[in-house]
Amino acid sequence: MRYSVVLIIISFCLFHSCTNNVMFEDAVCVQNITIIDPIDGESSNQTLIIKDGRILKIAPSKELLLDPKNNIIDGTGKFLIPGLWDAHVHFDYLEEIAPRMLDLFFCYGITSVRDIGGRIEKVKYYKDLALEDPKNMPRVKIAGPLLDGMPNVYDGSRPQNPPLSVGLATVQDVDDMIESLVTEDVDLLKAYEMLTPDQFAKVTEKAKEKGLKVTGHVPLSMDVISASNAGMNSMEHLRNLELSCASNSVELLSQRQTLLFDGKGDTGAVLRSRIHTAQRQNAIENYDESVADKVLNVLAKNDTWQIPTLALNTARVEKPFVKSTFQESFKYLPVETEKSWKENVASFSELPLSEFNINYNRWLQDMVKNIHEHEIPIMAGTDCPIFFLTPGLSLHTELEVLVRAGLSTLEALKTATYNPAKYFNIEGELGSISEGKIADLLILNTNPLDNISNTQSVNTVIKDGKLHSREDLDRRLEALDKM
Ligand SMILES: [Zn+2]
Repeated sequence: MRYSVVLIIISFCLFHSCTNNVMFEDAVCVQNITIIDPIDGESSNQTLIIKDGRILKIAPSKELLLDPKNNIIDGTGKFLIPGLWDAHVHFDYLEEIAPRMLDLFFCYGITSVRDIGGRIEKVKYYKDLALEDPKNMPRVKIAGPLLDGMPNVYDGSRPQNPPLSVGLATVQDVDDMIESLVTEDVDLLKAYEMLTPDQFAKVTEKAKEKGLKVTGHVPLSMDVISASNAGMNSMEHLRNLELSCASNSVELLSQRQTLLFDGKGDTGAVLRSRIHTAQRQNAIENYDESVADKVLNVLAKNDTWQIPTLALNTARVEKPFVKSTFQESFKYLPVETEKSWKENVASFSELPLSEFNINYNRWLQDMVKNIHEHEIPIMAGTDCPIFFLTPGLSLHTELEVLVRAGLSTLEALKTATYNPAKYFNIEGELGSISEGKIADLLILNTNPLDNISNTQSVNTVIKDGKLHSREDLDRRLEALDKM
């Protein structure tokens, strides 16, 4: 009898010394939070220990009783998701906004971005700036300039076509340019619309040799299937996908090859817009489900990812920037930009919509659903700051449109967390919530699985293990407002 009482006492003490007084030196303990992992889904009442920039431990709160001397954050009623990615941004598009973009991304919970087009010295500047202070800045991946053929579209000839691209005349030029970009430590390559098929083949060949991915717009001289078969890893904006999903896709291809040949003397921007005007509406009117099915099966087989930039593509009709919450974000832009964006949004909103605008809008959203059903991976990207899309906030808008197009809230979250990490082969480090991963996380006040707009309820940004409270983030935004 006495023996068993002693045993009970001993085991009680052991139990308590193991569980009641756990102390994690130099760590942050987020207690009683609901974890929303893009792979494993929702689990409530969890405790997460962050140490040395990483997730040290995750356990049910009732099994991990903390010594009160720990640095404890109460997560009761709150939700933890991985830090978000915007997989399509341009630091080099608007010079006056660029110096604010890192802060804007960060304060809206965007802890990583993929810049896919800009002069190498400009985009590298922001990548390096962010690397100098990784606990306070988002992670920046860069492609360098758009690799375009001749005439190149983004040649700096007019304000809406800043010099984001290099115009490459020959296959050898492609080779040389990629060699020089590799010495600048680019993270991927971006192919553009005026490349010839031979030049495009060189881009994908060199990319494989250098271990880089190729994203971009399907060149106008090619169709989607041949671009995918040539090794294009991802496609932006569903650009030129409509041309390959039409019943008359073969005629459209030969027509635009003629237009490309005849338009050599024009600027790239004029020529490209002539081709889109001649073909896009025609293609949408001749959209053929069985042709599209064939195309999407090839994309699925080749693992050719899609970044639909739906917020941008549907903005003509959906007008996200008319919303007061969106307009409020304009105050974080330079005063002149705020003024001109407000005026332009107002006059833009009054433009009448054509039947084609409406049909194309529908087509884009249906196509995203179709792509998703074909199990082709999608990444959330916005093209900010193009088209009144405030860096940071625009990613949350993208998630909303993805859900409207037919993704579940969890699937939408995956497009901005796990998928971009997997794209860069760093999913072992980032993009989901498990022990050992880099602690890039967001604490939200409301559940994004109930309503995807709740990703905007950012309570705390955690970057490389450092916590930034709402007050800290608001102070940083206020400083932009006063600049
Ligand atoms: Zn872009």
